Amino acid sequence: MIGIVGGGISGLVLAYELRHLGVDVTVWEAESVPGGVMRSQLHKDLVLELGPQRARLSDPFRQLVESVGLTGELVTAPTDLPLYVYHRGRLRRAPLSFSQAVSTDLLPWWAKARVLAEPFTAGPRVGEHVGPFLRRKFGGAAYRALLGPLYGGLYASDPDRMPVRHALQRTLVELGVGRSILWRMFRGAAQAGKIPPCSFRGGLGALPLAIAEKLEGRVRLETPVRALRKEARGWEVTLDGAEIVRADTVVLACPSDTAARLLGGEYPETVAWLSALRYNRLALVYLKAETKLHGLGYQVAFGESLETRGVTWNDSLFGRTGLYTVYLGGMKNPGLCDWDDGRIAAIACEEFEVATGYRAEVIQVSRTLIPAWDDTWDGLEEVEWPPDLHVCSNYTARPGILGRITEAKRLAAALAKEKPPESISRRR
Ligand SMILES: Cc1cc2nc3c(=O)[nH]c(=O)nc-3n(C[C@H](O)[C@H](O)[C@H](O)COP(=O)(O)OP(=O)(O)OC[C@H]3O[C@@H](n4cnc5c(N)ncnc54)[C@H](O)[C@@H]3O)c2cc1C
Repeated sequence: MIGIVGGGISGLVLAYELRHLGVDVTVWEAESVPGGVMRSQLHKDLVLELGPQRARLSDPFRQLVESVGLTGELVTAPTDLPLYVYHRGRLRRAPLSFSQAVSTDLLPWWAKARVLAEPFTAGPRVGEHVGPFLRRKFGGAAYRALLGPLYGGLYASDPDRMPVRHALQRTLVELGVGRSILWRMFRGAAQAGKIPPCSFRGGLGALPLAIAEKLEGRVRLETPVRALRKEARGWEVTLDGAEIVRADTVVLACPSDTAARLLGGEYPETVAWLSALRYNRLALVYLKAETKLHGLGYQVAFGESLETRGVTWNDSLFGRTGLYTVYLGGMKNPGLCDWDDGRIAAIACEEFEVATGYRAEVIQVSRTLIPAWDDTWDGLEEVEWPPDLHVCSNYTARPGILGRITEAKRLAAALAKEKPPESISRRR
């Protein structure tokens, strides 16, 4: 039996794929609802997303949705919704193609000329961080107004603290980038622009719920794993309530602090690395506003005196009338999540009005965590995982939903090749 710790999207897709390959599997999930950070909540008739706001309807995502019978629930957004950046007093359209880059009012002419010089600059240097790398390639103005906020926004991090080799290298390799990124970036944006953003009528949380249902009793909710102990072959797994289960292989699909706790004292170097990983704390504020805004949302340029990092326009994305999700905190202000809800909500409202010109009311404030992919990831390549143990997580491979699905499928195929026995032994 393969035991999976964590019923977020990584653990669930892994279990679902393993079942398809005929492998016996159990998922232990600490919470009463599957999905981890991919969770949705109803507020009156509005769907609030507590984590990711949208996925892309790429082929692997579409196949998964079809396979779990959710196609009828899909909602998609137009592919041409503009993205904005708040810079120098107003929202300005982010250029995602060559012609938009030429005509954008986000950058002065000299900054555009500097961007066009990118193909003459060298590729990443050993030990370089994403911030200096992007400034060296595209110039400081394009970095502060566009590339820094867009890239850092994905992780709520500061690109100056994100090593290229952890946070960007894999993407550069996949894009086939040697020296110049510029044309690949425009081509990549054009291709991505053909794939619509998507969600479900009931929100993205519908997907983990549907996968868990298909797993027919193999997902044990409200069952936190308390300890793991290596045996000669496989693992002894202690569950909440002191129940003990044996698994031939264990996959950690839980956050890194949990993984460190479970491995305990037996693997000190691995545990030290896991314990050191930094997660960024983010506050999400859900606003209701009557607007005429049309687009994906906006990021805030570096150097602007706003606490807001970015805002998703759920209203024009998926017709969630009047709904806007504001992100604050992250590495920009790690202490902000300690402030009380009222203070965070007031800032979100005030800054929304500054950026868009519309007044908003607060619906709710929530908080979440996201792996920072900063210097604390140093040593990732050298981490030695114990035998019969694998990790399928957003802190060892790409954190996006598509990345999670891809990694889970790859790991399922590899584990199925090892042909673990279909048996499960239990003792109390
Ligand atoms: C705010 C935010 C916005 C995002 N936006 C996007 C986006 O727009 N598009 C996109 O593609 N991606 C986005 N992402 C990234 C993506 O959503 C996540 O990386 C992904 O959902 C993580 O899934 P996971 O299963 O690896 O981890 P998690 O969702 O963290 O799941 C881990 C699970 O382990 C469980 N667990 C913990 N301890 C134990 C224990 N002891 N025993 C059993 N279970 C345990 C937890 O309860 C949880 O369910 C976003 C992430 C965040 C946080």
